[in-house]
Amino acid sequence: MNAETGKAAEGKAEGSRAGGEPIIQIDGLSKWYGQFQVLHDIDLAVQQGERIVICGPSGSGKSTLIRCINRLETVQKGRIVVDGIDLTAGGRNTQEVRREVGMVFQQFNLFPHMTVLENCTLAPMRSRGMSREEAEETAIRYLTRVRIPDQASKYPSQLSGGQQQRVAIARALCMSPRIMLFDEPTSALDPEMVKEVLDTMVGLAEDGMTMLCVTHEMGFARSVADRVIFMADGRIVEQAPPEQFFSNPQQEKTRNFLGQIL
Ligand code: ADP
Ligand code: MG
Repeated sequence: MNAETGKAAEGKAEGSRAGGEPIIQIDGLSKWYGQFQVLHDIDLAVQQGERIVICGPSGSGKSTLIRCINRLETVQKGRIVVDGIDLTAGGRNTQEVRREVGMVFQQFNLFPHMTVLENCTLAPMRSRGMSREEAEETAIRYLTRVRIPDQASKYPSQLSGGQQQRVAIARALCMSPRIMLFDEPTSALDPEMVKEVLDTMVGLAEDGMTMLCVTHEMGFARSVADRVIFMADGRIVEQAPPEQFFSNPQQEKTRNFLGQIL
């Protein structure tokens, strides 16, 4: 992405900070797996349209944190409000929040026994009540956007990893989510396929999607993120706009991490 786009992103983050409720508000979130505390008192507010990259060592709680945002994990302490839906109020709002929040996983998680088209139409028909015709039309539109409309009748196993991941992105988009979560979406891909998936994500960012991406693709972070968050040991250690994060990290742990991956 060029400098101009970077500048536009900056202006946008400022604009969104200036007005309105955050689309995601997390206050004092702590979580335990049995005796083990995986998240410690996390506070995080995300504005609509903001692009966040989360990085940090393996085991630092990145996946757990973003999985809490669409209720793939339960939490023991603190509050999470997503697009006005309070996930910690004890209500049955799991379905509601999953309609707002799309997620893309490292291992694609496509349904292997369904075609690409069926993968994309299942949830919109089941939980958005779309007709088959409407769901298929929507699916083709998003498959076109990720540039694989010609693969619609294939099964996942007949596609490359990069194509499967683009199907997973299209499938999430078919639900018209307001927020997209990415958990290391390129980590399982062969190097030559990383770019096609990152390009798709850049396109989404340019369209103004609110995105939280766990990734170690620091080129992507530099060009797309409004904010980079560094986690270690279940805590947010440091966060800053990418220019600042990469050129002037404040914490020793951040410097060590960047020293290892850059
Ligand atoms: P990251 O995504 O940063 O690598 P995770 O959120 O996956 O980290 O995991 C954070 C810590 O929680 C790790 O120590 C991991 O072993 C532990 N953990 C993750 N999932 C579970 C689980 N379902 N049960 C018990 N411990 C878990
Ligand atoms: Mg993880």
